[in-house]
Amino acid sequence: MIASNRGPWKEKVAIIGAGPAGLSCAYYLATQGYSPTVFEKDEEPGGMLRYGIPSYKLEKDVIKAEIDIMREIGVEIRTGVEVGKDITIQQLREEGYKAFYVAIGCQGGKLPGITGETLPGTTTAIDFLHKANTGSVKLSGKVVVVGGGNVAIDAARVAKRSGAEQVTMLSLETEDIMPASLEERTEAREDGVVINPGWGPKEVLGTDKVQGIVFKKCTSVYDKDGRFAPAYDDSELITLDADMVIFAIGQTVILKDLLKDTKVEFFRGVYPVADKLTYQTAEEDIFVGGDVYTGPKFAIDAIAAGKEGAESIHRYVQHGHMTIGRNRRDFIELDKENISVESYDNSSRQVEGCAKRDDKFTEYHLTLTEEQVRKETARCLSCGASVVDENRCIGCGVCTTKCAFDAIHLYRENADASNMVISEDKFSAILPYMVKRTGKILFKKK
Ligand SMILES: Cc1cc2nc3c(=O)[nH]c(=O)nc-3n(C[C@H](O)[C@H](O)[C@H](O)COP(=O)(O)OP(=O)(O)OC[C@H]3O[C@@H](n4cnc5c(N)ncnc54)[C@H](O)[C@@H]3O)c2cc1C
Repeated sequence: MIASNRGPWKEKVAIIGAGPAGLSCAYYLATQGYSPTVFEKDEEPGGMLRYGIPSYKLEKDVIKAEIDIMREIGVEIRTGVEVGKDITIQQLREEGYKAFYVAIGCQGGKLPGITGETLPGTTTAIDFLHKANTGSVKLSGKVVVVGGGNVAIDAARVAKRSGAEQVTMLSLETEDIMPASLEERTEAREDGVVINPGWGPKEVLGTDKVQGIVFKKCTSVYDKDGRFAPAYDDSELITLDADMVIFAIGQTVILKDLLKDTKVEFFRGVYPVADKLTYQTAEEDIFVGGDVYTGPKFAIDAIAAGKEGAESIHRYVQHGHMTIGRNRRDFIELDKENISVESYDNSSRQVEGCAKRDDKFTEYHLTLTEEQVRKETARCLSCGASVVDENRCIGCGVCTTKCAFDAIHLYRENADASNMVISEDKFSAILPYMVKRTGKILFKKK
């Protein structure tokens, strides 16, 4: 951070969206001495952690406890306020807000653009999971989920757990290239979800309500340059009966009038353009981060973005330099195919066990056992941490005071190479130098 002295800072900062990106930004601003205000359109904060991820994967009490801590350290969260509709950024400026962090995520589900896609009984995974996470979904009959990612898996498993008798998930991708992880697919199958890879939606059937859906064979998903460009064989079709069709084929940003009358520019019409180091947009008091900037990613990416957003906002409102001393993360990716790291640890990752599944909506993954934790932590690759550039290290030992876990230690390998004075004897060792130096100074003054 640019200022070593921490707040309290009086500058008002508005954060729009209480998902992981917005909350992380608020947290880091609060720890820096600000009292940021988070505006959230939903009834409860948490974003997709609260309204997207099913509770059997992430219990809502856990999120609530984390958010309670944020309130205690000075973050104000105003829920039920949609910025751009209930209040505008300009009005907030007039109320004295000096900077804005726009972290509104990708709150919209995409549709495939086929006949019948908006018939009653169709929905997107985002809307379906949002409803399910408020506890208001009871299903029966046959559900078809379109999509092959982790969000499709979540929707399929929640549908099954909410009472659907038959849940079938169809993806463009074949099993070997399906975006949903193997672990997710295995657990979905254990729940009774049928996964049918290699099919794309052609048409939803029904007149005033969904009755079924037709799929066409997908022959390839990507073109020769690796771009998403699905190709189909229209002569090979299957038709499934359905009481409900859930589309889990991607997410998009819902901007509405939020950034209207600002200088913010957009990529592909909805993604705000910002500097990739500072996240500052063309409107200098507006910063962005999380899924709204990157497109759908992971919670940890949003949390990391919020931290950087807080740093930028602090520099901006205190008129500091926006880029000096920042971590540019210019990493060179390790070529895993051609690895020749000495003593590289190839032991596999530990996998946690599962508890008996009594309640369908409580978390059932256990934590690692003590023995597993020992094995897991023994996998440390010591990646560079123990490598000291002897031409640079002056042995001052400051590094040993930096690690919060006391993992850095300094040893003298060549004890004979220099004299070292241990702390009790320090004064007697320094005294002759002090006397000599004081004499020199007095002599020069004369
Ligand atoms: C179903 C599903 C499952 C997922 N599972 C995982 C997982 O297992 N692990 C993982 O790491 N990631 C997972 N993700 C991804 C992860 O949840 C997202 O990457 C992350 O939540 C993005 O954070 P964000 O803060 O950018 O946006 P969001 O979490 O989307 O939060 C944005 C917030 O902004 C609010 N908002 C929007 N517009 C306005 C406005 N105008 N005014 C005020 N508030 C507004 C929204 O209501 C929302 O609360 C999942 C995502 C989904 C959809």
